Amino acid sequence: EERRPVDINTIVDEIMLLHEKQLREVDIKLQVSLGEGLRPVSASKNQLRQVMLNMVSNAKDAMPQGGRLTVTTSGNGGHVRVEIGDTGSGIRPEHLDKIFDTFFTTKTESARGVGLGLSVCYGFVKDHGGDIQVESKVGVGTTFKIILPVVQG
Ligand code: ADP
Ligand code: MG
Repeated sequence: EERRPVDINTIVDEIMLLHEKQLREVDIKLQVSLGEGLRPVSASKNQLRQVMLNMVSNAKDAMPQGGRLTVTTSGNGGHVRVEIGDTGSGIRPEHLDKIFDTFFTTKTESARGVGLGLSVCYGFVKDHGGDIQVESKVGVGTTFKIILPVVQG
C-alpha cells in the first residue's frame, strides 16, 4: 500500500461521519475531539481507515445496551495519537495479552467481523512504525490508543 502524508483528523472525521447514524440508533453517544495543528503521518489511508473501522466496530459490539464512544486525537513531538474509548463490557485481564492474536475472539460465529481483527490492525500500525496500547476495566470500559510517528522534516 502506498504511503502519503495523511492528516489523522481527516481519517477520524470520515469514519465517524460514516458511523454516526448507526451508533445513534443503538444508543451510543459519540464524542469526537480533534486536536489542532496535528502534523501529518506517512500512511496508507486505507489501512488507517481499516484500523479505525475495526476499533469502532469492536466498541459497538462491546456496548449492546448503548453507551458512550469517545474519540480524541492529539499530538506530541514526533507522534500523533488517536484514543478510542468506550463504556462497554471491558476486557478480562487474562484476555488482555491475547486480543491482538490472530483469530482470538470472544464473540460467537454470527457476531464476528469480516476477519479484520485487532491482529490485522496491530500489523498495520506496527508497519507504520507505530504502536497500539489498551487499557480496560471489566464493567467500566476500554480505551485503545493508536500512536503513529509524524512525517519527518
Ligand atoms: P473480533 O471483533 O472478530 O472478535 P478482534 O480482533 O477485533 O476480533 O477483537 C478480538 C477480541 O478482543 C474481541 O472478541 C473482544 O473479546 C476483544 N475486544 C476488542 N475490542 C474490545 C472492546 N472495545 N471492548 C471489549 N472487548 C474488546
Ligand atoms: Mg473486531
